[in-house]
Amino acid sequence: MSIQVTSLSKNYGEQKAVNDISFSARKGQIIGFLGPNGAGKSTTMKMLTGFLKPTEGEIKINDIDVIANPISAQKTIGYLPEHNPLYLEMYVREYLQFQASIFKVDKSQIESVIEKVGLTLEASKKISQLSKGYRQRIGLAAAIIHNPDVLILDEPTTGLDPNQLVEIRELIKELGKEKTVLLSTHIMQEVEAMCDSVIIVDKGEIVINKPLSELKNQKEQVLNVMFDYKIEEQFLQRLPNVKTIKNNFDNSWLLTFSSDEDMRPKIFDFAQEHELKILELNSENKNLEKLFRELTN
Ligand code: ADP
Ligand code: MG
Repeated sequence: MSIQVTSLSKNYGEQKAVNDISFSARKGQIIGFLGPNGAGKSTTMKMLTGFLKPTEGEIKINDIDVIANPISAQKTIGYLPEHNPLYLEMYVREYLQFQASIFKVDKSQIESVIEKVGLTLEASKKISQLSKGYRQRIGLAAAIIHNPDVLILDEPTTGLDPNQLVEIRELIKELGKEKTVLLSTHIMQEVEAMCDSVIIVDKGEIVINKPLSELKNQKEQVLNVMFDYKIEEQFLQRLPNVKTIKNNFDNSWLLTFSSDEDMRPKIFDFAQEHELKILELNSENKNLEKLFRELTN
């Protein structure tokens, strides 16, 4: 396993910031670590990268025990911390040379990393001159400079403008082809755009850990249907698996179903059986954002 976390907890005084979480990641997975502010994402990531001692639990990265051997574990981990601390007075190349020296990486590697993250034209500029998007690229470059197998990225896209956002997402997806990535975010859309799996945390605990495809499926189905004839809400209760019924206007209804099965054919059967005609039928986009809000209050 690339990442193996077992019964991990962190208390700050009385507060349980991380409370008995366990999860694992296989090589090549991009996992979204999703949760509202204060859920315990950064605390977990600091423990995973060996910068914070857990109160309890075990962490293995690439089969190395992080608590017992933080230095050897860190050689296989690339970490982009939450606020991406950079030395603003340094030049981009100079900063990356400095980062490379920490890991005793050969200087010849630096240019290929600069190219990989798209910093070729900025390499000779001062970090303070660069936009937030370019600064994130520098953070990512620093994170991969020693060619680690596992990347831990703490809110890598927070504070970026829409164009920068797309660029950094693409870059992370590209990096994810050869590495295992755990990235935190408080935005569900981010997970949909980049990840193949999602762990949702709330108040220090894992509330969901699923492949994205399964998460999409387990959701309720939302259908809008318009009949040709006025009917009573009670009548619609007879629909199989129907969960909620709401009148949009006139003969148009918003129906939710708790079923994986496509309910549209069932609605046609139902209409025919009761001599109704369907004038309109459409399914609403599956709204993972809504699910996230429900799970995390
Ligand atoms: P997230 O990254 O999901 O926003 P954090 O891991 O930063 O959450 O924080 C989780 C909880 O732990 C929050 O309630 C936060 O206030 C608290 N916390 C984080 N760091 C410290 C610290 N050094 N000392 C005390 N409490 C902390
Ligand atoms: Mg955080």
